[in-house]
Amino acid sequence: MAKRIGLLGGTFDPVHIGHLRSALEVADALALDELRVMPNARPPHRDTPQVSPQQRLEMVRLAVDGITPLVVDDRELKRDKPSYTVDTLELMRAELAADDQLFLLLGWDAFCGLPSWHRWEELLQHCHILVLQRPDADSEPPDALRNLLAARSVSDPLALTGPNGNIAFVWQTPLAVSATQIRQLLASGKSVRFLVPDAVLAYIDAHGLYRASN
Ligand code: ATP
Repeated sequence: MAKRIGLLGGTFDPVHIGHLRSALEVADALALDELRVMPNARPPHRDTPQVSPQQRLEMVRLAVDGITPLVVDDRELKRDKPSYTVDTLELMRAELAADDQLFLLLGWDAFCGLPSWHRWEELLQHCHILVLQRPDADSEPPDALRNLLAARSVSDPLALTGPNGNIAFVWQTPLAVSATQIRQLLASGKSVRFLVPDAVLAYIDAHGLYRASN
């Protein structure tokens, strides 16, 4: 039986309910066997001071613990420098059966930025792309993506067949929460309860993360 595996990358600085709810909705809607939440390595100067990549990873671990089918994928953080998505997908592919389906989740903004990614035209050789789109979005895709969309998009994400090669849109109303907002609340001494899972909140408090005194 071919497996259906989703991949959600991000900085998760910190992971919050917007990420988790969105990931779970996609996993449910597409009946995924596994949705891998994968924190990205960042250039050292872009990390939040006092919050290490390992701490970002630990918060994701705590957030998905016991939440089927969400799991953590730490491969990009294990490397000492940022990874290209195409390389990560290639590595993942090598570990899967030939007919397993791999779905790369991308927000609309990230999708529109695809033409600037390293070897972006090869991405669909490894996975399908699920574009997470907001019902109120009205922007047009860049010209560089028009032909690709015309050739590769299918209207129903459940109709994606085969291991790779197509693009589908998943419509979601995102929760209005961002990691930026959470960092700002914490830096000004305010509560982020209910914006992150309790276990993540406890970790943030225990380690004094994102506080202005850091
Ligand atoms: P920051 O505010 O630091 O830019 P962020 O909250 O946008 O961070 P990222 O780690 O950059 O979080 O996001 C990882 C992925 O999760 C991206 O694909 C992003 O589009 C998506 N995402 C972020 N916030 C939400 C949300 N509230 N609902 C659904 N998806 C989200």
